[in-house]
Amino acid sequence: MTGNPSSELVIVSLYPRDMNIYGDRGNVLSLVRRARAHGFAPRIVEVNPGDPMPDRVDIVIGGGGQDSGQGRVADDLQHRADELRDLATSGVPMLMICGLFQLFGHRFVTQTGSELKGIGVLDVETRGGDERMIGNIVLHSDEFGEIIGYENHSGNTKLGPGSQPLGRVLQGSGNNPDDGTEGARTGNVIGSYLHGALLPKNPAISDFLIGTAAERRYGSFAPSAAMPESVERARASAKRRPR
Ligand code: GLN
Repeated sequence: MTGNPSSELVIVSLYPRDMNIYGDRGNVLSLVRRARAHGFAPRIVEVNPGDPMPDRVDIVIGGGGQDSGQGRVADDLQHRADELRDLATSGVPMLMICGLFQLFGHRFVTQTGSELKGIGVLDVETRGGDERMIGNIVLHSDEFGEIIGYENHSGNTKLGPGSQPLGRVLQGSGNNPDDGTEGARTGNVIGSYLHGALLPKNPAISDFLIGTAAERRYGSFAPSAAMPESVERARASAKRRPR
């Protein structure tokens, strides 16, 4: 029994060609599967540099990339900055991982001192550091409970007052080696360093994206997906692995 019969949800996969490392494409696949389980008809639209945005956008997902990949999409992102900011302001839920998390902030200054301008949807700023933060990571979030993933970045991200952290680090580094925060949240936009991919191991975040999109588009959300048994096994196994 589902309360969301065949309602379409348009999921924009932002820059899948250049920004997709450590299994980030798994976020899109996982979201599609979970949206179907809730009774929706998800439609993925891939948006690479130069591609048009669809007329209708319900969820936007973006992944990570090396500094070179970020360089390839940075100009295109500036051309879409107003549109993405308007979507964010109007409440469209978004999830941006690592490289795109950094570019959804104000700026990313690489280790060699070159600056990639961001679009300022999140109130964060990132500087490339000398140390790579690599390994399995566990956070606590009041909204999503325990969040489990894998980080690999040298960018050090600092939050301004316009964003809250996604969670507090229980194991791992997070935004930087100093303040115990991980990720950022402004309105319905989430940024995070967590790969893995994040969503297959953290269905609570998928449900937030789907539920928020459904409420905006259809006025209500009736959760009806069961929790796959494999989720608990994947979470337990990722938590056990050393950094
Ligand atoms: N280039 C960025 C960093 O190392 C992003 C890396 C990533 O997306 N995994 O900080």
